[in-house]
Order: sequence, then structure tokens, then C-alpha cells
Amino acid sequence: MSTQTTPKLLVLDHFIDGKYVASIDEQTFANINPATGEIFAQVAHGSSKEIDMAAQAAQKAYEHGPWAKMSLRERAVIVHRIGDIILARKDELAKAETLDTGKPLRETLEGDIPRAALNFHFFADFASSINDEYYVASENERHLSVREPVGVIGLITPWNLPLYLATWKIAPCLMMGNSCILKPAEWTPYTAALLGEIVNEAGLPPGVFNVVQGFGADGAGEALTRHPLISRISFTGETSTGKAIMKAASESLKKCSFELGGKGANIIFPDADLEEAIPTAVRAAFRNQGQICLAGSRLFVQEKIFDKVVEAMVARTNKIKVGDPLSLDTDMGALISQEHMAKVQSYIELGKAEGKLLTGGQRLNELGKGNFLSPAIFTGLAYNSRFCQEEIFGPALPVIPFKTAEDAIAMTNSTAYGLSASVWSKDVDLCHSVSSKLKTGLVWVNTWFARDLRTPFGGQKASGIGREGGKYSLDFFCEQKTISYKYKG
Ligand code: NAD
Repeated sequence: MSTQTTPKLLVLDHFIDGKYVASIDEQTFANINPATGEIFAQVAHGSSKEIDMAAQAAQKAYEHGPWAKMSLRERAVIVHRIGDIILARKDELAKAETLDTGKPLRETLEGDIPRAALNFHFFADFASSINDEYYVASENERHLSVREPVGVIGLITPWNLPLYLATWKIAPCLMMGNSCILKPAEWTPYTAALLGEIVNEAGLPPGVFNVVQGFGADGAGEALTRHPLISRISFTGETSTGKAIMKAASESLKKCSFELGGKGANIIFPDADLEEAIPTAVRAAFRNQGQICLAGSRLFVQEKIFDKVVEAMVARTNKIKVGDPLSLDTDMGALISQEHMAKVQSYIELGKAEGKLLTGGQRLNELGKGNFLSPAIFTGLAYNSRFCQEEIFGPALPVIPFKTAEDAIAMTNSTAYGLSASVWSKDVDLCHSVSSKLKTGLVWVNTWFARDLRTPFGGQKASGIGREGGKYSLDFFCEQKTISYKYKG
């Protein structure tokens, strides 16, 4: 990465073959701070040319470099070191992530950046400790399954948790001996650019990890999905983008892993511990400005406690401090872009027309040009309305009453999505019965966002294809081969 003197803007270049590379066509695009509306960086505008350059470098590194031939233990040393350097540079990376995303610095310092480091530490340890399978079929016949590197893999990531989600793919991809090209979201190029310096310092061979900055459709993202040297695509983003990628990738039969949109639910039964359930439901709805795929973006409350829960939710939400993301006492920062804020505002207008707005939903003009909205809570919206079915991806929560557990299950399952849900009750049998009937990849019981990185993570229905985490990530990023032996004896 380089810093220009005139004009005094940060320049975020591509990272290809171990070096920072400017746009081949000398094109850049502006990077805007969502909290101020100011342009703070110019970003190299990648096209199919840079994707091809990165693909050639990655293929060369894969075929002729040392990485794919190293043992898991040797790779683990370097991958672990990447995590160490991220932790050593935590403050700088957290600030960069906050400038790019508008999310509170407290969250990037305590959440996103430590988790990015953990992704490298976890996969370095996990991948080098798992066993391959070995079957003794008979005295003279043995079957061995081995994991081999695939080649060059394309990684395409969203803006809501930029370094956190990119490293969740990069770490297992590298541990399996592959080379890769990351195409970060155009809204959040900064930490991906810094990662280039970090992998160089850690000693990763050139060409193994590459970053091409740019846009999606008709840009670097689409070029990645069509490039003949790329054998797999791991994508996290919107469901509609997943469909476009699948179409483009099908031409060259690339295998795809998709983590897509969600419309999560919190289901609160009358015997739930409300002291725990209510603050968690507020956090689940509004953390990261509501821009989390796992957000509890619908709240179903049993009718006996509906009024009480709604009142407590509104009181708690009114205490959320929206403001400067760099200030450490800020709870909610700015939405990613004006375009995205306008989309969220259009849903707020829809909510007002069809239901009742109890609090929030205002553009906070007093905070300047940033994309600040106060967190909104609605009642009176039908569970099957557009507001309750579509992914808003912003701070706008409908609260919906239910009578029976069956009603809550049916309403939760009524969307096209199937990523996550939380069930709140002290009745273990009820929690188990509801959990087993929810069509979601993740169910939390009396909690939200709890994760063990070894477990499968992913969505049912329109929320994804495949699973990430532990061995599930490793399986996607390798070729599994069975070698069968027949002995004479
Ligand atoms: P997005 O789909 O608009 O963009 C994601 C990435 O895809 C970006 O890098 C973009 O440039 C690229 N892209 C866009 N069109 C493309 C195309 N035709 N070909 C190739 N690449 C293309 O998503 P977003 O707005 O950045 O992120 C928000 C979405 O991500 C939400 O729907 C959210 O639920 C989802 N998400 C899912 C998970 C999960 O784990 N399931 C996690 C985080 C975010």
C-alpha cells in the first residue's frame, strides 16, 4: 500500500504476488467514511485484467512455490504468525475497520479484529490436529482418505464484518495448501489491503494470498467467478448475488460454498428469563446497526407477556447511544452507505404505513452527514408482510405476538431464509421440541451469537449452500481422495 502526497488521501491498491499493485487502467474509486460522508481513500478499481494477473500469480505459486508442498505443521507456523501480527496491530486494524464500516470502535476492538486473529489461530491448530480416515476392510485390503490442496480459490466477501468474514475463509483455505484471491466488498477495502503487509511479514510465500479490489457484477467479483484458473468460489453476501454467482460459475463448473442472507427470529415464551432475554433481543436486533446476517430481526413474543416485553424492549432501545463510531461509549454507529440507509428508510416507511412505529426510525441529522438512524421498533405488522419476510439488514425490528409454540414455529419458518433463531424458555423439553422443528441452520437456546468454531455454520433454504467451520471449511477447501490398497499376503 502506498500513501500519496497530493491529494492527501490514502491509496488502497491491489495486493498481487506479494506486492501492492495499482489499477492497470489507472482507475480508482472513492472510499467514504459512513460516519462523516467524507472520502478518506482512493481504491484501485480492479477489472478482469487484475483478476487474470492475480490468477496467474496464484497458479504459479500453487504449482511451483513451496506452499502446497509444505506439511500442515509448517503451514500452521506461518498461519499462526498471521494471527499474532493481527493481534499486535489490533488498534490500527480496528480503527481502519471502523473508518470503513461506520461500526463502533468498541466492537472492532473487542469483536471483529480479535476474531480475525482467532480465525488464523484456530485453523492453524485445528487443521494440523485432525486425522484423515483409514479403514481396514480385510486383512489384505485397506482404504485411506487424504485431503489434498485444490489449486486457486476465489473468496468473495461482504461489508458487514469485513476482516472477520474474509479471514474465516482465508485461514482454512491457506491451511489446506491452496492459493487464493480475495475480492473484498467495494465499501470496505481497507483491512483487506492491510492484510497484504501482514501476510508478507508472516512469511507467506508470494502469490499464495492476493487481493483484487473492485466491484461485483460486471467488475472484479464477476471476473473472478468466470476465470478458468479458479476452481472454487467461497462467497458470503446477499442471496440474489449468490444466484448470479452460481449462474456465472456454472459455465466452468466451479464448486461453490454460499453463506447468504437471513431473517433471524427470537422466540420468547412466558417462562423465559426476561432479564436475559430482553437485553439480548435488543442486541440481536441492533448490534452492528442491525447489519448482521444472524440478527434477531423478528421478535415473536407469547401473547400473555407481549405488552410487558414490548414496553421493556422500547425502554431498553431508547437507551442505545447512537453516534461517533470512534467514541468508545457509542453503542450504535452509522449504516454502511447512503444507498443502504435509503433502502432501510423505505422499509421504515412501509412499517409506518402497515403497522405502528413505537420508537426510532429517524434520520439523526444532528449527527451531521453520516448515515445515522435511530433504532426502530414496530408492532401491528403481519408476520407474512414484506417487512417481516424480507431482509432489511438495518435497525428496524417488528414485534409479533403468538399463541402457541406451533404458531411461533410456523411464523419463524415462513420466510424464504433459514439461517438462525433463538428460543427463550426455562422448559428444556419445549426448547428441544421447538429447536427440532425450526428450519434454520443455527438455533440458540436462551442465548444469541454463541459460537464454537468447530461446529457447522450455515443456512438452510435461501440462506446458503454448504457449511463453514472446523472440518466443514477444510472439506470445502480441499480435494478428498481415497487411496485403496490391496496387499498380497
Ligand atoms: P452483496 O451480495 O451485495 O456483496 C457481497 C460481495 O459480492 C461483494 O464483495 C460484492 O462486490 C460481490 N458481488 C456482488 N455482485 C457480484 C457478482 N455478480 N459476482 C461476483 N461478486 C459479486 O452483499 P453485501 O451487501 O456486501 O452484504 C450483505 C449481505 O451478506 C446480507 O444479505 C447478509 O445477510 C449477507 N451475509 C451473510 C452471512 C452469512 O454467514 N450467511 C454473513 C454476513 C453477511
